Amino acid sequence: MIAAVNINITKVERSKLKDINLENIPFGKYFTDHMLEVDYEDGVWKNAEIKPYQPLLLDPSTAALHYGQAIFEGVKAYKNSAGEAFIFRPLDNCKRFNISAERMQMPQVPEELFMEGMRMLIDLDKNWIPQQKDHSLYIRPFMFSCDPMIGVRPSDKYKFMILLSPTGPYYSNPMRIYVEEHYVRAVPGGVGYAKAAGNYGAAMYATAEAKKKGYDQVLWTDAFEHKFVQECGTMNVFFIIGNKVITPGLETGTILAGVTRDSVLTVLKEMGFEVEERRLNIDEIITSQKAGELKEVFGTGTAATISLIKELRYKDYVMEFDVDSWKTAPAVKDKLNAIRYGQTTDNHGWMLKV
Ligand SMILES: *Cc1c(COP(=O)(O)O)cnc(C)c1O
Repeated sequence: MIAAVNINITKVERSKLKDINLENIPFGKYFTDHMLEVDYEDGVWKNAEIKPYQPLLLDPSTAALHYGQAIFEGVKAYKNSAGEAFIFRPLDNCKRFNISAERMQMPQVPEELFMEGMRMLIDLDKNWIPQQKDHSLYIRPFMFSCDPMIGVRPSDKYKFMILLSPTGPYYSNPMRIYVEEHYVRAVPGGVGYAKAAGNYGAAMYATAEAKKKGYDQVLWTDAFEHKFVQECGTMNVFFIIGNKVITPGLETGTILAGVTRDSVLTVLKEMGFEVEERRLNIDEIITSQKAGELKEVFGTGTAATISLIKELRYKDYVMEFDVDSWKTAPAVKDKLNAIRYGQTTDNHGWMLKV
């Protein structure tokens, strides 16, 4: 059980929910009535508060704005048909958050503060969790450095916050993907395994270039040979080749260890698939495609769960897929959704009741 933490609650006078239609609500645009805000000062977390969602008043010299000590997480909560709210694997996000914090020389957030702060906030705003099909509540924990001082060094002050955003179905269309050979997302020894804010800013240029060419996203390759596939945009990537499922391994530290990735691997093993986490060369993908062995390609992540890839372009070679005939990725998505929406038994202990 989670130890009690002292969080002060100030409620809104009037909920904004009356003015908002949650049906098909776009991702990341609307926030619930309340937010969590906690300060780190003098080596301790203090002033833990759940209060009305509102702007922050920050000094222009706030360190995070200049040197980018900033990390985040993405988690989701779901309602079952009885209207009860559950969070999907939040403890895994808490652990990853602290791995990111360590890499960015930021303080650890105690597990009970992360977990109980999230649970209390969702409990207060649970009317905001949409109950429609494929809808959910997106949860955004984040931390940033706050010293009002320009100087390249770790801050003494930080803020840990959680926002909640109701969301409809996301990225549902199959994607066209450009295999990126020039720009890179991550390098061994770098911060690719951390959910550090700067990773996303650094990726936008390459993504925009791919969009100009008519693609939805890039498939990142390794920094040295531009041959070994890494991730698809901000999703982990899976290839079904023959009767095996292959996803890039985590050992290089260039890949974000997705909670969805881990859940998909677990479900695939239970379905009887042989899964491999290893280096995967684009040449192997092309060879298998030419031999008719490349069955399905998809991305995984909290926002979209599973996104099918209908086209993959490497140099001038274009691979097109008949995604409508695919069975495995949609089956995995259905199985995960059944767990999330409480339509089947949660044998893994993935769902935490709010
Ligand atoms: C968040 C993220 C993922 C997906 O992780 P999930 O825990 O499944 O949401 C994959 N790659 C990158 C780069 C990410 O930031």
